[in-house]
Amino acid sequence: MYYDVVIAGGSIAGLLCAREVANNGHSVLVLEEDYEIGTPEHCGGLVSIMALEELGIIPHRKTFVHYIESAEIFSPAGKRFSIESKKQKVAEINRRDLDKQIALQAKKNGAEIRVKTSFKEITDDGVNTSIGNIKCKIIVDARGVSALINKDRTGILSSAQYEVYADWIKNGRVEVYFDQKKYPGFFAWIIPSSDGVGKVGVAGRAINAADALEEFLSRKGSYSTIRKIFAPIWIKGPIDKFVSKNIVIVGDAAGQSKPTTAGGIFSCGVGGILAGQAISKYLESGNEEDLNQYQKLWNKKFGKEFEKQLLARKILERLDNATIDKLFDSVTPEILKEISNKDDFDFHTSSIIKLLGVKGSFKAAQIIMTGEMKNLLS
Ligand SMILES: Cc1cc2nc3c(=O)[nH]c(=O)nc-3n(C[C@H](O)[C@H](O)[C@H](O)COP(=O)(O)OP(=O)(O)OC[C@H]3O[C@@H](n4cnc5c(N)ncnc54)[C@H](O)[C@@H]3O)c2cc1C
Repeated sequence: MYYDVVIAGGSIAGLLCAREVANNGHSVLVLEEDYEIGTPEHCGGLVSIMALEELGIIPHRKTFVHYIESAEIFSPAGKRFSIESKKQKVAEINRRDLDKQIALQAKKNGAEIRVKTSFKEITDDGVNTSIGNIKCKIIVDARGVSALINKDRTGILSSAQYEVYADWIKNGRVEVYFDQKKYPGFFAWIIPSSDGVGKVGVAGRAINAADALEEFLSRKGSYSTIRKIFAPIWIKGPIDKFVSKNIVIVGDAAGQSKPTTAGGIFSCGVGGILAGQAISKYLESGNEEDLNQYQKLWNKKFGKEFEKQLLARKILERLDNATIDKLFDSVTPEILKEISNKDDFDFHTSSIIKLLGVKGSFKAAQIIMTGEMKNLLS
């Protein structure tokens, strides 16, 4: 068996990469170790419509679930503020169907997809897989966070997300709960699918995510669980090298999800597309510089924003619950209005800067004095 490109991992990054490679007339095989594309779904499904458009996806009726109208943010002591998100056009999508929709795009362009087929290792002239050796010129690693676990554990948090029926879930309203004791360095979340149905999750450093989520759910009130997911998330930003020789790394495997929220549909998807385009050019020219363009272009688009998100994350990890409560006291209606009206879901450090740039917290002021904060604001 021979293909120009073999891609390990049939999710958003791998499939978009395949779509681009096939669109340029090269042969490409996607290997997915699970028995179905899009399943198991380890995603909250929050994405902006602008991001989907940029990824070349017009969501089908089955894929699009509904628009998110507001985000309600809670402090450890139960203080809260609300950000309107209508202008930012953020949707909750069905990730299982989204991945299948991209698989169909890739197939229509000429890509081949095989499920229940695993990549095992790289060989001298291709890859070894559960169906034997396959020769290829380029190998794409799109295996998600699982590809990073053995390389670097320090950027990984454990997460748990349950799909539940609960009458306290309100259509169109995302909820985010900060508590550094329960979810250190991250938060708990509620993402509605409709009234009374949604995804509830937690992530945090060195926590038992299942216990933390059960405790959160029991405090919220009555619920029934219909699905459970436990998955690692990566919060350390992009790895150093996306390309080495004929191996190209894309998506979560390259650390391309947001360091603040671990959201990756957009930035991992763009990674897949840029990699696919660079690989196609390289296959035509044989010029390595064409392949290296992939990392340069991804960094140009996301590099600065991700650096700022990493700094914002460092600051969050240093804040204790009392300081977070004080920061909430300092959030004014004007700041919330500005964020609701102007800010961007995909490049959201400007919102964080507005929220952190407020007066009134001694510890936050101390942090603001440090070089990190100066860099963040620059
Ligand atoms: C709980 C949770 C909630 C999230 N919520 C959101 C959200 O609301 N919005 C958002 O934008 N992002 C969210 N994300 C992040 C988003 O899901 C990921 O960033 C995105 O899926 C990364 O895509 P990927 O293609 O790089 O990797 P993945 O989606 O992880 O896919 C990797 C694929 O590779 C396959 N694979 C692994 N090893 C092999 C192998 N050896 N051979 C063949 N196949 C293999 C896997 O089965 C999998 O299908 C969330 C993540 C988690 C964990």
